[in-house]
Amino acid sequence: MKKKVTIIGAGTIGLHCAWFLLQKGYEVEVIEAQAENDESGCSYGNCGFIVPSHFIPLASPEMLKSGMKMLFDRKSPVYLPLGKNIKQIPWFLKFMASANKTQVGKVIPTLYQLNDESRKLYEMLSKESDNQTEYEHKGLLMASTTAEGFHEEAEIAKIANSLGIATQKLDQLGLKELEPDVNFSLKGAILYKSDGHINPTSHLRWLKEQLKNKGVDFHYNSPVVKIMLLKGKVQEVITQKGRHKADEFVLAAGAYSCQIAAKAGISLPVISGKGYSIDFAKSELQLKTPIILTEAKVALTPLQNNIRLGSGMEFNGAVGEVRLNRVQAILDRTHQAIPSFKKQTASELKIWEGLRPVTPDGVPFIGRTKQATNLLVAAGHAMMGASLGPITGKIISELAANEETGYDLNILHPNRF
Ligand SMILES: Cc1cc2nc3c(=O)[nH]c(=O)nc-3n(C[C@H](O)[C@H](O)[C@H](O)COP(=O)(O)OP(=O)(O)OC[C@H]3O[C@@H](n4cnc5c(N)ncnc54)[C@H](O)[C@@H]3O)c2cc1C
Repeated sequence: MKKKVTIIGAGTIGLHCAWFLLQKGYEVEVIEAQAENDESGCSYGNCGFIVPSHFIPLASPEMLKSGMKMLFDRKSPVYLPLGKNIKQIPWFLKFMASANKTQVGKVIPTLYQLNDESRKLYEMLSKESDNQTEYEHKGLLMASTTAEGFHEEAEIAKIANSLGIATQKLDQLGLKELEPDVNFSLKGAILYKSDGHINPTSHLRWLKEQLKNKGVDFHYNSPVVKIMLLKGKVQEVITQKGRHKADEFVLAAGAYSCQIAAKAGISLPVISGKGYSIDFAKSELQLKTPIILTEAKVALTPLQNNIRLGSGMEFNGAVGEVRLNRVQAILDRTHQAIPSFKKQTASELKIWEGLRPVTPDGVPFIGRTKQATNLLVAAGHAMMGASLGPITGKIISELAANEETGYDLNILHPNRF
């Protein structure tokens, strides 16, 4: 008889787990709190970058330094509302403890390998879908408005090169050659040829349809309310609509994973980092290559039918509370760095909000929990969930089958804090 796996969460992580588990021959079901056609979640409105270039974790000395500065700027993209974060002080202490050179050096090779392998898997999925996923491999520009920023990026590029990532240093002339239709006000950029991008919504629509056709059982409008544990194993998961028994369970509920793990008595330090994205018509900016404005912390993705701008990191912010002053500052900074992108008024735009699931060391939780031997966790991918979706699914399927994954699982372990 086929072994059964129940996945909690139908975001990019849960859906990719379903894909790879199905390939291993498991019977798969997915439990999702939202409705079938709901595309408001974090996995849909993100920028779709697939990023071997992002080998430095969020918890790094540089991020700590720049993040601290930004906290005191009322217009910065990083926001930490004190009232909502008092209870999270232990999480922030863990973040600060992780943001050191030794820890960063330890996780760099794993983050790079994961993203690099995931990009290859995206390529495979794109072929399988006849590119309904809108996958493109055009690289990523890490662009700087200041000489200091450009110098720092050039130093990071040296580490990238030592990992085998091809980069190209572009000055203003080089940028003009690459993007002749865009007027930049930049000192320069590093082009990471390693990176690709997808349209997250197109990709997930295709994936969901495939999973449905291949027999995955989806239970929508079914928030998990209880997890029954007995003798170190999950016996069943109870939702508002019913009870689910399986051989293995996968927790892939993004920013909500901490609350769900707590139902099984497991402490999983994942908090939410809210970000915004806004879609603009192609005519607003003739950009061909995805770009990150490193000082402004703004990402721009040229999708097939529009340009997506993403930014913002509000810790424990709630969806439905758009901070227009911060969004306006994001738009103003984008205009300053790219004058071709005309001035915009935040209050006139449709603004999407998404909750990134963030871990204290900027590395996702992927693995079996010690408390429940049949509970696998796949959560906490922060700014890299789109990028790491396929490789996470592949690793989870290998763990379910008790196979070697080829990765240092201690670095990814859900009980590492
Ligand atoms: C502005 C922005 C830009 C971004 N850009 C990029 C990018 O370019 N590249 C990249 O790699 N990443 C990017 N990200 C990050 C990426 O979007 C996330 O890491 C990723 O979507 C997380 O996926 P997930 O499946 O873990 O979580 P989610 O997408 O949040 O999915 C979790 C699912 O679990 C469900 N759930 C919650 N509670 C329950 C419950 N009790 N019972 C059942 N189901 C439940 C939720 O409804 C949800 O559908 C960006 C994020 C933001 C905000």
